[in-house]
Amino acid sequence: MKSGIVAIIGRPNVGKSTLLNHLAGEKVAIVSPVPQTTRHQIRAVFNDVRGQIVFCDTPGLHTSRHALDRAMISLVNDTVEGADVLLHLVDVTRHVGDEETKAIQRLCAARAPVVLGLNKVDIPVHYIPEYLAAWENAIGRSLNEATDRLMPVPVSALKGTNVDKLVDEIFARLPEGGPLYPADVLTDFPRQLAIQDVIREKLLLVLKEELPFSLAVHVEEIADRSRRLTYVKAAVLVERETQKAIVIGKGGAVLKKAGESARKELQQIYGRKFFLDLWVKCENKWKEDKDLLKKMGYLA
Ligand code: GDP
Ligand code: MG
Repeated sequence: MKSGIVAIIGRPNVGKSTLLNHLAGEKVAIVSPVPQTTRHQIRAVFNDVRGQIVFCDTPGLHTSRHALDRAMISLVNDTVEGADVLLHLVDVTRHVGDEETKAIQRLCAARAPVVLGLNKVDIPVHYIPEYLAAWENAIGRSLNEATDRLMPVPVSALKGTNVDKLVDEIFARLPEGGPLYPADVLTDFPRQLAIQDVIREKLLLVLKEELPFSLAVHVEEIADRSRRLTYVKAAVLVERETQKAIVIGKGGAVLKKAGESARKELQQIYGRKFFLDLWVKCENKWKEDKDLLKKMGYLA
């Protein structure tokens, strides 16, 4: 088995979301409607028989240059330096620009191998040679001799052309190792956390001032049951048995009211219907359960 972190470097609109959606198949739509809701830059976790690829975002490299303050640069550096493979995704229907040249220089200085995704090759007019030349220039060797550093793969994330080849090249560069995240969850971490926050917020609104610090929401399952409906199973965790009754409310009134308003908000955010399956669970040590805290995004 292989596993590792792949940092995706790509400007807005190069096709990052499209690529990840394609990889996730029809099951998951990896769109984070509330940008930066979390500290995590994990975008998607891809599992197959060969192992696991954890795709991460590099925030700074694809925001405007003005946003590249010190903190951003160090965050980018952490992501780039912490990655096993760098996926440089480019839109070949656009000329290599200043920003792209800078990104290439930065990536060139990194230690991890680079897979260059030359995206949108389904569009007839493109500038693949420009990108290859820019990289060749930065490396200072012919690309044929530098396959240890850089592997270019022409793809169409939209049509799915050659995406399997891109994944092959990534796996070929990943170290041996077991999965970094449980295979059954977390294919959709940002969405999981966003849903969790919406449910928690609505519960606290209904509960007013009661038990805000005793309460957590753990989204246990997200399934896109159809193009229009998403099923979510979430556990509302409380610390004491007596708190269960408060969260459930008389005849289930509290849970129902919070669930209803969470459902409406999620529907608005994601533009699809939600079925929320909420249940209340007493987990008196949830604040000390590292595994659970990780799953809920409170621990890295
Ligand atoms: P991101 O900002 O990098 O996440 O880019 P998106 O995935 O949102 O894609 C930006 C636009 O490019 C969308 O309109 C996509 O449909 C389009 N796009 C992405 N990949 C391809 C591709 O392979 N071919 C074509 N023709 N369009 C693509
Ligand atoms: Mg996107």
